[in-house]
Amino acid sequence: MDTKILSGLDASKALFGGLVARIDHLKSKGVTPGLAAVLVGENPASEIYVRNKTKKFESLGLKSDLFRLSKDVEETELLKLIEDLNNNNEIHGILVQLPLPKHIDSEKVLNAISPTKDVDGFHPENAGLLSIGKPRFVPCTPKGIMFILKHFNVDLNGKHVVVIGRSNIVGRPISILSSLKTLGNATVTLCHSGTKDLKYFSKQADVLIAALGSPEFVDASYIKDGACLIDVGINRIEKDGKSRIVGDVNQESVTGIASSLTPVPKGVGPMTIAMLVENTVLSAELLLN
Ligand code: NAD
Repeated sequence: MDTKILSGLDASKALFGGLVARIDHLKSKGVTPGLAAVLVGENPASEIYVRNKTKKFESLGLKSDLFRLSKDVEETELLKLIEDLNNNNEIHGILVQLPLPKHIDSEKVLNAISPTKDVDGFHPENAGLLSIGKPRFVPCTPKGIMFILKHFNVDLNGKHVVVIGRSNIVGRPISILSSLKTLGNATVTLCHSGTKDLKYFSKQADVLIAALGSPEFVDASYIKDGACLIDVGINRIEKDGKSRIVGDVNQESVTGIASSLTPVPKGVGPMTIAMLVENTVLSAELLLN
């Protein structure tokens, strides 16, 4: 069987194409969607993530302000910055790059972001809206996965979606999204580190979403013929003396057995940034209306 590659780059181009008219409309009303990215400390991976995000905003003619704080910043100072950004009319989305230094209570900080500017979708109010089937700001990675599936005509209706991983950022929200009648209407199984006999479930999946953070964990023995595989993992490994990024799926092992597959890199990753832009545009639209 030929395994079709579901390119996140192609899907994100389609998304950006659709955003142009929405951004133009906002600008015609005097509104430029604006993101505030807050970076605490000097974590090299966080630096790269934030730079990629802000660069994308700039390339689309959107506003993006980066706030750098020292790794020793007091929690109260960070909370004050968030309060100021909550009250700043030019800012429609606030992103606090994780992880935060240990002396800061991440949950308290994320909960301080106004739910109407929570473009990462981590605030309990937005998580609650999603869980009652009325999504507003949905976390970017699962939202991006839904877009990829739709873009490549992978119909979830009545299918069995198996998710590996139950994090609040990926696993849990994608399990809810794909089960919603209006979006996926799939039958969903959510597997996690407490799941006994993971293969029993994963081999039933029409669509298998691997979000466990374990390099090349899912090989051919975990899937059925013709499954669609969404590889969320971003894992840095040493291979043949070189450092490289691999997903949670052993792509070589499943090629020829899976019907389709998101690559790593250039699969789910680009969609995550694209959805951050989409959520910020949505926030500006909601404020305008
Ligand atoms: P996490 O560590 O918060 O959660 C991992 C989940 O996997 C947990 O719920 C755990 O129970 C489950 N798990 C771990 N080992 C398991 C096993 N052997 N069997 C079954 N379940 C198991 O991770 P996360 O933040 O959800 O991220 C998951 C992966 O996705 C990571 O590689 C991360 O880097 C990547 N990620 C990618 C993007 C992107 O833009 N592509 C975004 C977020 C996360």
